[in-house]
Amino acid sequence: MLITKLKNKEELLASFEKKPFIIKCFGCKEVYFPEDKIEELLKENESKITGVARLDYLCREEFSKLYLAKYGQQIKNSGVVIVFSCGVGVQVIAKLCPEKEVLAGCDTYYLDGFQGLSVQDLNCEQCGECYLNYTGGICPITACSKGLLNGQCGGAKNGKCEVNVEMDCGWELIYKKLKGLKLENVTKQSKVLIRNYKRILDELGYNKDHIKEE
Ligand code: SF4
Ligand code: SF4
Repeated sequence: MLITKLKNKEELLASFEKKPFIIKCFGCKEVYFPEDKIEELLKENESKITGVARLDYLCREEFSKLYLAKYGQQIKNSGVVIVFSCGVGVQVIAKLCPEKEVLAGCDTYYLDGFQGLSVQDLNCEQCGECYLNYTGGICPITACSKGLLNGQCGGAKNGKCEVNVEMDCGWELIYKKLKGLKLENVTKQSKVLIRNYKRILDELGYNKDHIKEE
């Protein structure tokens, strides 16, 4: 199981200043998708939005590609694309819109229980603090063999990963994507993407006593 939660308001409002096109997923209802809160946010920021698309299971790449074709002009007119979905959905849209900055509107959290199966190449480890907004929509956790948050490790050869030569180096892809968007300076900023586990536990309603009991 997984759940999606809206990212913090400050980060979201900063994204709305960039004239966004909005893509919302209307798939997995069991993941507690925060649809009401998203609607509220969109209403408050209506004047800044170039368009809204709502798709069933936007993680289906071929379907999303066909569906989004009719929004081509609105997406072109936008400054960024904000996607409200789990991490896989955001990655799919980032892949479909290589020339746009694609931002995640939600964080995706892991929950115990049955995990759905996916036949896709793209994957999300539901890490609770989604980094896609710093990495051009390419996941540093699943596209890098070491799950590095401060890549590249230095071992890649000819764009291939040193751990698995069959796969592209995720951090090389991230750098190329950011460079294409003229955002490569993001990787030079002092902001180190250290995961804040306390924030994740707080968000999920865990507290110290609960952890001791476990
Ligand atoms: S950083 Fe990657 S693994 Fe973590 S929530 Fe985002 S998409 Fe999922
Ligand atoms: S070569 Fe690239 S993908 Fe492989 S571990 Fe190093 S940074 Fe990660």
